[in-house]
Amino acid sequence: PSFEDFKLNRQILNAVADAGYTVPTPIQQKAISPILSGQDIMGIAQTGTGKTAAYVLPMLMKLKYAQGTDIRALILAPTRELAMQIEENIKVFTKYTDLRSLVIYGGLGPKTQIEQLKKGLDILVATPGRFLDLYLEGHIPVKSLQFLVIDEADKMMDMGFIGSIHRILEVVPRKRQNLLFSATMSELVHKIAGDFLKFPTVIEV
Ligand code: AMP
Repeated sequence: PSFEDFKLNRQILNAVADAGYTVPTPIQQKAISPILSGQDIMGIAQTGTGKTAAYVLPMLMKLKYAQGTDIRALILAPTRELAMQIEENIKVFTKYTDLRSLVIYGGLGPKTQIEQLKKGLDILVATPGRFLDLYLEGHIPVKSLQFLVIDEADKMMDMGFIGSIHRILEVVPRKRQNLLFSATMSELVHKIAGDFLKFPTVIEV
């Protein structure tokens, strides 16, 4: 198998090639097509399996090009480190497109993040608490949200983010594509998946 087999556009395929990816990993082989076709996904995969590209690549394909000021994709990650790493991946894969991304997280003043949000963007990577703070202050327009990703859901639950996640689910548009990734399948992850995903395709690697 090759990345060329997926219905990804040329700009993305060229960035994938530049990154040195030649063979899709198992999670990428299993997840890219169902995500492109619009399905909700529950992916059981550890870090290191290539799960980030598995959801980022088809998401970029569907977002295509920069549009307006509302965010269209929100990726929630439990830690600042993971959030930064995801956004770095996105920057690598969007380099031949005009898609705009930003990462926001707690632990430092929100001023710069608010200024960056004002410029408008397509893809936001965020830790749940900082997302809610800035959303509630009116800095994040979500009416055009099409994609919601919860990455490392098990860690989210361990860190006590379930309340924040439920609050976020209340404020985003109902009609959207949902992707959830978790290294393990605990009872709490099962519960959040049930609340979050609609008829998901389950992928295990
Ligand atoms: P992840 O599980 O998303 O954190 O990815 C783990 C590492 O594998 C990262 O350094 C990625 O850049 C790399 N990676 C992901 N997919 C591929 C691939 N198909 N070929 C080569 N490297 C990859």
